Amino acid sequence: MWRATVLTLYPQMFPGPLSESLSGEGLARGLWRLDTHDIRAHGLGRHRAVDDTPAGGGAGMVLRADVLAAAIDAAAPADDPRPRLLMSPRGRPLDQARVRALAAGPGVIIVCGRFEGVDERVIEGRGLEEVSIGDYVLSGGEIAAMVVMDACVRLLPGVMGKEASGEEESFEDGLLEYPHYTRPREWEGRTIPEVLLSGNHAAIARWRREEAERLTRIRRPDLWQRRKP
Ligand code: SAH
Repeated sequence: MWRATVLTLYPQMFPGPLSESLSGEGLARGLWRLDTHDIRAHGLGRHRAVDDTPAGGGAGMVLRADVLAAAIDAAAPADDPRPRLLMSPRGRPLDQARVRALAAGPGVIIVCGRFEGVDERVIEGRGLEEVSIGDYVLSGGEIAAMVVMDACVRLLPGVMGKEASGEEESFEDGLLEYPHYTRPREWEGRTIPEVLLSGNHAAIARWRREEAERLTRIRRPDLWQRRKP
């Protein structure tokens, strides 16, 4: 079973939104599993301290390497085959190809940073791979970890109703998705493109392809450039 283990200072945030809808039904049906580990359980002293002031000075606090390493070792033994991710704005930006790869594997171990981040030595010492969910700064890694898990879990076998519905989506072929329409046929004077009502499946497929290409060119020239023809 695909298993996610999350190390966090806020375990009560989980499963949070992942308990609803596709991911929540998947959890309830045992299609994946989520364990949380409280980093503070490995904190030092009476106050269970997990952070300290940055070497070299400056604002904020840094998660201690010794505390975080103890938490990682307790949550995941050295021979655990799952990739160890550290949510971090410095990481490689998450994309659908990486999500597919993670979903196809045994699961993930995810470390959620807080404060200014974590001591650099634990990243090297425990082989953490930094993963970003975009070029902006969150206050902690928890919501980012939920993003990773949500994106992976919906691809697990049996989680999505129709197996096919993952295939044609945005990014799967380097394109954004074509527009969708449903009933009513006319709404506030707006109609549905004729071709979609034509029953001509080849023409529909062609229209969708052209729309996907048009939208990608206009909205995401970066994706369009990188596309393999
Ligand atoms: N001082 C850091 C930001 C720390 S934000 C810097 O400038 O790079 C606190 C924590 O939130 C981080 O340790 C990380 O776990 C999480 N986080 C913030 N932004 C993120 C992003 N874009 N992607 C993934 N995790 C993020």
